[in-house]
Amino acid sequence: MLKETSTNAMLREVTIDALKELQEWMVGLDYREDAYKAVKAYADKKPDLKGEDGKLFFETMRDYRRAGLDLPKPERDQVERMRKELSRLTTDYESNITKAQKAVKFTRAELEGVPDSFLEQVKTGDDFTVMANITWHYLTIEENAKREETRKRLLIEHDNLARNENIPLLEKILPLRDDIAKKLGYKSWADYQTEIKMVKNAATAIDFLEKLKTGLQPKFDAEVAEFRKIKVKETGDANAQINIWDWRYFSNQLKKEKYTVDAEQLRVYFPYQRVLEGMFNIYQSIFGLKFERVEAPYKWIGDLQLYAVADAKTDEPLGLFYLDMFPREGKYNHFAQFDLIRGKLLPGGKYQRPTVALICNFPSPTKDEPSLLSHQDVETLFHEFGHAMHSIMTRAKFARFSGTSVPRDFVEAPSQMLENWVWDKNVLDSFAADYRDPSKKIPAEILAKLKEAKLAVEGTRYRRQLSFGLTDLALHSRIHDDNAKETMPISNKILGEVFFPMAPDTAFVAYFGHLMHYDAGYYGYAWADAIAADMATVFEHAPKGYFDEAAGHRLRTEVYEPGDSRDVNVSIEKFLGRPRSLEPFLKMIGIGQNLAGTRTE
Ligand SMILES: [Zn+2]
Repeated sequence: MLKETSTNAMLREVTIDALKELQEWMVGLDYREDAYKAVKAYADKKPDLKGEDGKLFFETMRDYRRAGLDLPKPERDQVERMRKELSRLTTDYESNITKAQKAVKFTRAELEGVPDSFLEQVKTGDDFTVMANITWHYLTIEENAKREETRKRLLIEHDNLARNENIPLLEKILPLRDDIAKKLGYKSWADYQTEIKMVKNAATAIDFLEKLKTGLQPKFDAEVAEFRKIKVKETGDANAQINIWDWRYFSNQLKKEKYTVDAEQLRVYFPYQRVLEGMFNIYQSIFGLKFERVEAPYKWIGDLQLYAVADAKTDEPLGLFYLDMFPREGKYNHFAQFDLIRGKLLPGGKYQRPTVALICNFPSPTKDEPSLLSHQDVETLFHEFGHAMHSIMTRAKFARFSGTSVPRDFVEAPSQMLENWVWDKNVLDSFAADYRDPSKKIPAEILAKLKEAKLAVEGTRYRRQLSFGLTDLALHSRIHDDNAKETMPISNKILGEVFFPMAPDTAFVAYFGHLMHYDAGYYGYAWADAIAADMATVFEHAPKGYFDEAAGHRLRTEVYEPGDSRDVNVSIEKFLGRPRSLEPFLKMIGIGQNLAGTRTE
């Protein structure tokens, strides 16, 4: 938290070093011989532990095995050395991404179609300097530049960022991971990583992605055909094809032409404070909670807000959340929920209730206007606050199982489910109103168009996700010492087959940060999306829809309260009241009928 939010630059620097030291210490902790021996001696008595205690016992022993503790001493030491080496290499890969910069100069004519407001910001003398490494620069050009050559040039620079530094590192990291996995008795790093997730093994994850890939083929083809139609019209070339540097531009054109959607015009309906209170009302009511604003004992920024959460019926205090919602220099620049204090049962029988913080970057208020959120911002707020609810309602006995400490391929599902709320007219009408004239609600047709426009490119969006997921799994199951140099060819081949052929001589994987701390885990986005869509049906079929208290109560008691203290598969099915189904997800992304072997409702 200090590293991400402190207003003191020196303090932020110091915490980076402290963190490195802490991480190294934590790897070392796994190899504490005395601790391992004590636990092992206890394990040898074959204790009969049940429920959460049994799970803690099983996972503790499993984690020792995964660290190599049951290997003979020389091999164990080798695994420890390799893990520390891996930790250094991955830190370097990540620093190279942070440091990578590439300025690309364009003339005014080359930037035809790009908004003036953007041009003003990148003007340098007679030319314009665009930074390939600044995401919003990159996206603004790729989505708006009318000239293909411009989009292509910038994409090639972008997909070569950190190439010289990170490809050699990847060629060390991937075989090293493979070696570690094999030393520990796994077929691959992908199998090692997925063992402790919902999918359990790499084959299941690959199979899931492959099925989706095939199922999405017709929709993806149809979407690309739409892009092509626009390109043919724009260029006059009857044979025009859609390339990797084209899809963002033509999906933007498609949205503009066919759905006449201007998402910006929705901002007036979403002044920050009104949205926040509206969301509070919904969550308080469906989960049976009450939130009360309290004075923060310590504030790292002036506009910090602190709230206490209690059970609405019993008044039992449940936890606290901080809101640090607007950007500033040196602050974490995404949106996330941070755990400050985890829930757990204390030795004396008292329960330590959690404290969390939402660290967000919504548009700051100006002197003329309140902070006005985009519809996507509202979706993000509902999502992140869902994580806060997950943390705060916990009743897990042990901190390692409490709140959001569930398998990584499940943790996003409840929050992704809550994103559905902001696409519902009734939900939006409960709080969204034009800040200049609150009698004005969001016109139904704008919301409908926004939905249609989203669905119109969903095939493309998912095929891109799948191309990343399949590449990630392939790199972590096919690369070993003998073929480390194949890293680039293998990844470019898969990315190209599942999405669009990569631009010649580019190295996308050099700048793909997920390969470090989400390694063999990228599939998890689609996996959790599928569970989220399934879980949403509980509310959709409930008498009061997204306002249904009984469904909310079930989410609270079956998913949020247990956390990881029991198998999440059990929690999901208890919440659903039936076995899981992939059907709601397929329907949501518009391919309900295309996947062989799935049942229809
Ligand atoms: Zn999330």
